[in-house]
Amino acid sequence: MPISLSIFGGPPSFKNKLYVGGPNIGNREALIARIDDMLNRRWLTNDGPFVKDLEQKVVEFIGVRHCVAMCNATVALEIAIRALGLTGEVIIPSYTFIATAHALQWQQITPVFADIKADTHCVDPDSVVKMITPRTTGIIGVHLWGQACDVDALTEIARWRNLKLMFDAAHAFGSTYKGRMIGNNGVAEVFSFHATKFFNTMEGGAVVTNDDDLAAKMRLMRNFGFTGIDAVNYIGTNGKMNEVSAAMGLTNFENLDHVLRVNRFNWESYQKGLSGIPGLKLFAISDREKCNYQYVVVEVDEDLAGLTRDELVSVLWAENVIARKYFWPGCHRMEPYRSLYPHAGLLLPVTERVAARVLLLPTGTTIDEPAINQICRVLKTAVSMSGEVRQAIQAERPKT
Ligand SMILES: *Cc1c(COP(=O)(O)O)cnc(C)c1O
Repeated sequence: MPISLSIFGGPPSFKNKLYVGGPNIGNREALIARIDDMLNRRWLTNDGPFVKDLEQKVVEFIGVRHCVAMCNATVALEIAIRALGLTGEVIIPSYTFIATAHALQWQQITPVFADIKADTHCVDPDSVVKMITPRTTGIIGVHLWGQACDVDALTEIARWRNLKLMFDAAHAFGSTYKGRMIGNNGVAEVFSFHATKFFNTMEGGAVVTNDDDLAAKMRLMRNFGFTGIDAVNYIGTNGKMNEVSAAMGLTNFENLDHVLRVNRFNWESYQKGLSGIPGLKLFAISDREKCNYQYVVVEVDEDLAGLTRDELVSVLWAENVIARKYFWPGCHRMEPYRSLYPHAGLLLPVTERVAARVLLLPTGTTIDEPAINQICRVLKTAVSMSGEVRQAIQAERPKT
């Protein structure tokens, strides 16, 4: 049954906009009761009881020695990078959120962009090896879409070339690598608890590590470098998580299994709804590992779909489905990196191809099965009428 696409003047499929990363919110009463406790205590931040409790919960959940909670993952990355003593050049994939690169550049460390693998979207260890120079001091692997990057290969390279290895695990809270919770790889792993992530503290993040000295150093760095009431021993910043965020975290922790079930159910609903649409491939998630199913990632093959990824984004936005093009156009094509390394793309062919094809669809607890079915019907109809849709878009040129 054809549906009326708003690109042809029909009403949008959804009255309210549906977003990628709509926040998952646990039990309201529990959250408000915690905030009430906090107000009664008048302990709003500075290593408060909720932060300590949340850190302990993460430690147990991941099975790691230390969790240092922070105000967000970007500052957590910066602190981990500094505490590890990285300098010179550090290799990261270009296909990541811009914060991975900025956390280095912000402290005068050069991010060197490696390519990714087409099947995993994660950094290609062969490309990493090619990027090593005498100035390289470390590698930051990035786990994408809730699945681990090739940790073993990166560990091997780091050992062989005597480089420090850490991970941006912003997408991978609650996921496993070889059956073990992500958070135990390299010297440190960094989670994001941003509102859009699988598990959120509104804003927040954490570094987890099994290294006692590193954890102690990061705790000091998170609090301006204070070692005592009036004593500062080295440079630090303000990376502290506040108690409201930690209260949100404790509340969302109790909701984690529910969010996971919903994400998985949504993913399977998309799998059914998208199957058989030419040129649209749902990015595969392996059953062999635990995955948080945080993202629904579709790759668009223009030759088969008759529409580009960008055209499909236009169609979806017109229907109030705010699909996203993560991580278009790749860090190497954003400033300041684009001007600093104008030819980086020559060594990043897979990144450029994947970045041009990936489309993220809304999932999480803010969307239900009928909405998913409707989104799939929109996509199916658009592809089946690709010629007319293309004309309508060209006539209208909606902005994406
Ligand atoms: C979200 C994200 C970050 C940044 O996290 P914040 O908590 O928002 O600072 C870093 N890296 C990746 C891969 C992310 O997705």
